[in-house]
Amino acid sequence: MRIAVFSTKQHDRDYLTEGNRAFGFDFEFLETRLDHTTIGLVQPYDVVSVFVNDIVDKQVLDTLKSHHINHVALRCAGFNNVDLNYAKSLGIAVSRVPAYSPEAVAEHTVALMMTLNRKTHKAYNRVKENNFSLRGLLGFNFHGKTAGIIGTGKIGSSVIKILQGLGCSILCYDPQPSQSLCDAGAEYVDMPSLLQRSDIISLHCPLFESNRHLIDSHAITLMKHGVMLINTSRGGLVDSDAIIHGLKSKKIGYLGLDVYEMESELFFEDLSTEIVQDDTFTRLAGFPNVLITGHQGFFTHEALTQIAATTLNNIHQFSQGKTNPEGFL
Ligand code: NAD
Repeated sequence: MRIAVFSTKQHDRDYLTEGNRAFGFDFEFLETRLDHTTIGLVQPYDVVSVFVNDIVDKQVLDTLKSHHINHVALRCAGFNNVDLNYAKSLGIAVSRVPAYSPEAVAEHTVALMMTLNRKTHKAYNRVKENNFSLRGLLGFNFHGKTAGIIGTGKIGSSVIKILQGLGCSILCYDPQPSQSLCDAGAEYVDMPSLLQRSDIISLHCPLFESNRHLIDSHAITLMKHGVMLINTSRGGLVDSDAIIHGLKSKKIGYLGLDVYEMESELFFEDLSTEIVQDDTFTRLAGFPNVLITGHQGFFTHEALTQIAATTLNNIHQFSQGKTNPEGFL
């Protein structure tokens, strides 16, 4: 099996190589993203493996098919960057890593909340400069606050458990409610109620065309003044321009992002000596009450080990003519 791994970083190479000892696949690691501009790099591989910001659209799928490549192995859970219906129509199988470590993303989500609230990132820098003033560092207790969780699957449920441990009341919105979360004290409500009643709102649903800009200017209007909004799911769930407006009007009191609508132009690269051309991003990053991380929710040893293991197993399954429903879409 010859496998092209697009968007390779050193950690992909390390964890896939380690996991591959049991399989002996022939990997070609490519640092570039797969999209219509790099499709020329595709050769007669058996499988291409991609990550969150590769773009597997009709044009890319046609080229894969012309090279007789019948398997796209995602190394992530989300699949909004693949035209699934078109892949299906061409007979190209698409696999993903449905669950690698929901706790990894959940813990990062709560880290964003805690940092925004108690401003430890600012305190760290102050103390380094012998500035021990507390001015501007005032936070609030999570205990007794209401957290609204949109999407209560694996990651959302894990966030809920942590927040309940901190003493938060939990409101949820999900078209498929979980009885066990209800039994544990969470309350499912409709979206407007969640937006109106929550002090903290956190997004944990997948991105589809139908919920793109789920958080738009109307949704923001419904929120409490000074709400904390967190998105570690997919950037397209929030309308960045509406968020900027919400921050300027102080309706949004805190914003934590691990994902961003146009992140494919920025994230996972060192651009520290470049001039960033994305004015929306630089405006967002310039607010004192905004904390952005570059899509690192998944980035733990446990998650990377599981991502490599599941990706390799999906490739193995496919090579045996199997497309198990846990891994294949
Ligand atoms: P999951 O499939 O276990 O849960 C998703 C939940 O969202 C499901 O319960 C589903 O019913 C619900 N849902 C679907 N459409 C919805 C809608 N319109 N409104 C509200 N809820 C809706 O997925 P998961 O493992 O919990 O992952 C959630 C998302 O987190 C992924 O889709 C991915 O985009 C994102 N993610 C981010 C990172 C990161 O590093 N930041 C890593 C992994 C996953």
